[in-house]
Amino acid sequence: MCLFCDIIEGKIPSTKVYENEYVYSFDDINPVAPVHTLVVPKKHFDDIRDMASSEEGALYMGEVIKGISEVAKIKGLDTGFRVINNCGEDGGQTVMHVHYHVIGGLKLTEKMI
Ligand code: 5GP
Ligand code: ZN
Repeated sequence: MCLFCDIIEGKIPSTKVYENEYVYSFDDINPVAPVHTLVVPKKHFDDIRDMASSEEGALYMGEVIKGISEVAKIKGLDTGFRVINNCGEDGGQTVMHVHYHVIGGLKLTEKMI
C-alpha cells in the first residue's frame, strides 16, 4: 500500500492543483508556506534513485519538471519559489513515493535549511 498511489487513484481525497497523463499535483496537508504543493509522478517510484535507474524514470522526471512549472503558474509564483525533494531516511523522506515540494508565496531566505 502506498499513500500517494491511493491519492493519485482518488481512493484518498486531496486538493488537486494540476494533473496530466504523467503527473498529479495536490496541496500538502501540512503546509509550511502560503503555497505548499506536491508534484508526484503517476507511476510509483520510491525515490529519485529509483527514478534514475530506468529510461521510464527519466521520462517521468522530465514530466515532473513540467508539472512543477505548471503548478508555479497556477499558483501565481511569478517571482520565484523553492523545490525540495527529500530522499531516503536521512533525507527526511516520510512517504516513499517520490515527490517534489513546491514552496512559495513568501520571500524565502537564501538559507537552504
Ligand atoms: P516528505 O517528508 O516525505 O518529503 O513529505 C511528505 C509530505 O506529505 C509532508 O509534507 C506531509 O505533510 C504530506 N502528507 C502526508 N500525508 C498526506 C496526505 O494524506 N495528504 C496530503 N495532501 N499530504 C500529505
Ligand atoms: Zn506510490
